[in-house]
Amino acid sequence: MILLDGKKLSAEIKAELKNEVENIRAKGGKIPHLAAILVGNDGASETYVKSKVKSCEEVGFSSTLLRFEESISEQELLTEIQKMNENPDIDGFIVQLPLPKHISETKVIETIAPEKDVDGFHPINIGRMAKNLPAYIPATPFGILQMLERYKIETTGKHCVVVGRSNIVGSPMSILMARNAPIGNCTVTLCHSKTKDLSKFTQEADILIVALGKPEFVTANMIKEGAVVIDVGITRLPDESSAKGYRIVGDVKFDEVAPKCSYITPVPGGVGLMTVVSLLQNTLLAAKKIFYA
Ligand code: NDP
Repeated sequence: MILLDGKKLSAEIKAELKNEVENIRAKGGKIPHLAAILVGNDGASETYVKSKVKSCEEVGFSSTLLRFEESISEQELLTEIQKMNENPDIDGFIVQLPLPKHISETKVIETIAPEKDVDGFHPINIGRMAKNLPAYIPATPFGILQMLERYKIETTGKHCVVVGRSNIVGSPMSILMARNAPIGNCTVTLCHSKTKDLSKFTQEADILIVALGKPEFVTANMIKEGAVVIDVGITRLPDESSAKGYRIVGDVKFDEVAPKCSYITPVPGGVGLMTVVSLLQNTLLAAKKIFYA
C-alpha cells in the first residue's frame, strides 16, 4: 500500500509556484493576486480562508481578505463582487461557501467574472470543463487529478466510482475522470444518497473517490483488493484529548481499508492540502491570462 502524500506533493507544488513568482518578479511582471470574500463567522469557513491566505503568502502571491457581516444584503454582496470583477489588480477571487440563507449562491457564483472564477464554479467554467476545453477546474477535483498524475497512477480503461454528486467535488470529479484526457478515460459510476446497494458499486471500483461527508462511512468490505482510494471527506469530531478539542476524520475507515488498497490518501494530510495549492495554481493561470485573453 502506498500513501498518497498530500503534504509532500503540496509542498512540491508550492515550491514550484514560489519559483514562478520569483521569475515573474525578476522580469518585472505582475505578482498574482488572489482575493477572498468571507461572509459571517463560520468556524470552518474561517479556517479554510485563513489557510488560503497563508498559502498565498508562502508562495509570494498578493492576497486580500474581504470580510462582511452575516447581515450583508444579497445586493450589497453582488455589488462587491462587481467591484472585484472590475479591479485590474485582482487576478482571481473566491467567495467562501456556504453563504447565509438569505443570499443566493447561484446568483453570487454567476456574478463572478468567469476569467476571475478561480474556484471554477461558474457555469461557463463548468461547461468548458465538461467540453474538455481549457477552464479553471474546481480546486478539490484539480488537486485529485494532480495526485493521480504525480503518482503516475494509470486511469485509462479503469472503473472509477465517485460517491457524492456535489457541485464542488463529486459531480465535476465524475466529469473529469470520464474525459478523454491523460488523467481520465475511465468508465465512471456516480453514486449518491439515492443509489441502491452502494457496496455493489464500490466493490467494483479500481479507483474509488469518496466525497459524502459521513465520517468513516466506507469500510473494508466495500473495497476491492488493490483499489486506489481517494478520501475527500473532512469531518471534525469532538476529541477532548486533542488540544484543539476536535480531530479530523475522513469518509473512509482508514485503518481497515488501507491494507486492501494499492494507494490511499490519509485524512488529514491528503486531498485537503492539494485543494489549497490547486487554488493557487488557478490563480497563477488567471494572472497569466491563459484561458481568457
Ligand atoms: P455535500 O454534502 O454537498 O454532498 C454530499 C454528497 O454525498 C451528496 O451528493 C449526497 O447525495 C451524497 N451522500 C450522502 N449520503 C450518502 C450515502 N449514504 N450514500 C451515498 N451518497 C451519499 O458534500 P461536499 O461534496 O461538499 O463534501 C463532501 C465531504 O468532503 C465533506 O466531508 C466535506 O467537508 C469534504 N470536503 C473536503 C474538501 C477537501 O479539500 N478535502 C473540499 C470540499 C469538501 P445526494 O446528492 O443525493 O444528497
